[in-house]
Amino acid sequence: MPMETADAVVIGAGVVGLAVARALALAGREVIVLEAETAFGTVTSARNSEVIHAGIYYPPGSQRAALCVRGKAMLYGYCASHGVDHRRCGKLVVAANADELPALASLHATAQANGVDDLQWLSAAEAQALEPALHCHGALLSPSTGIIDSHGLMLALLGDAERQGAMLALCSPVLGGRVTPQGIELDVGGDAAMTLRARCVVNSAGLGAPALARRLAGLAASQVPRDHLAKGCYFTLPGSAPFSRLVYPAPGQSSHLGVHLTLDLGGQARFGPSFEWVDQIDYSVDPAGAEAFYAEVRRYWPALADGVLQPGYAGLRPKISGPDEPAADFRIDGPSRHGVAGLVNLFGIESPGLTACLAIAERVAAALA
Ligand SMILES: Cc1cc2nc3c(=O)[nH]c(=O)nc-3n(C[C@H](O)[C@H](O)[C@H](O)COP(=O)(O)OP(=O)(O)OC[C@H]3O[C@@H](n4cnc5c(N)ncnc54)[C@H](O)[C@@H]3O)c2cc1C
Repeated sequence: MPMETADAVVIGAGVVGLAVARALALAGREVIVLEAETAFGTVTSARNSEVIHAGIYYPPGSQRAALCVRGKAMLYGYCASHGVDHRRCGKLVVAANADELPALASLHATAQANGVDDLQWLSAAEAQALEPALHCHGALLSPSTGIIDSHGLMLALLGDAERQGAMLALCSPVLGGRVTPQGIELDVGGDAAMTLRARCVVNSAGLGAPALARRLAGLAASQVPRDHLAKGCYFTLPGSAPFSRLVYPAPGQSSHLGVHLTLDLGGQARFGPSFEWVDQIDYSVDPAGAEAFYAEVRRYWPALADGVLQPGYAGLRPKISGPDEPAADFRIDGPSRHGVAGLVNLFGIESPGLTACLAIAERVAAALA
């Protein structure tokens, strides 16, 4: 097997891996991105809501909160300077009845603690003046929430990285590797199988990151979290969207954001994602799943007609906490945590990973500086 050498290797060409590759290339490093699939950005980065989150849900002090708020600001700046299609459309979080108002108040307090100070309280009449189809008892307006063309973003990130000399190798799955005194050696499969020795390695393999880290000899097993999958399905609404802003229900007990309405940049509405713990990767959408959506959506949009929702697509959340555990924070594990020089593992980068990608990349570059 031929042995090649590299300065920095990023494993995984999703939105986070591409943002990391760009940051390392801009810092003057020679970067190779290894991607298992035949194209970049085909996994979780292509199967999400494409929402630029404001940062109002995550526990104050968590990495998810800090990286979402910083990432949002960086992302709006990046979209403006690089011509990435996006829209700061705003979002309404709605209380369907008076009992849900305390959940909105608690969300408002969390947002303020996270440094998001632009939320506005709306009465039912004020909310309905903005969105006439909406039914609610009151709402919080988040003006800084938006939507983005995630593929356009990835294309721009890759373009920046390549202009700085980075190289993307497709069909190049990393099978495993080992930590050696000379650097980190990676066994790369595919047509051009080889061993690649790098000074720095960033494991940004998304759903595959924990499994890959377990196949890296020299990294203690205790440094790799257990991985879990939570599936989210979307259903689309044919025709023109009934709302011009995103609409989310008041947060309930569960750790996901509820069946919400998002819009794409073409003006199409979709509902989702649902939440289901699963054991394997399966992106099929069961049309029967729509039944549960009707009741949830009609709490804020009573005019939803019977039988109109169409199966859309599904994504899998790369979870590192299980059903009976508190929701885990993002893990950006650098040498100061696991003791392996030159290695950063990214674990549990679920939502808001798209929003936070530039801020995560900044952290990774700092950990390897
Ligand atoms: C249902 C859902 C909705 C979401 N909605 C939002 C949202 O609205 N806003 C938001 O901010 N975030 C959202 N997210 C989160 C966001 O989509 C993710 O955080 C982000 O896409 C993660 O990007 P990534 O690069 O880490 O992972 P991925 O996009 O999964 O990329 C990982 C890449 O690594 C590659 N790979 C894996 N193993 C190997 C290997 N061994 N060798 C080489 N390559 C490998 C894969 O092929 C893949 O291309 C959502 C997530 C889900 C699941």
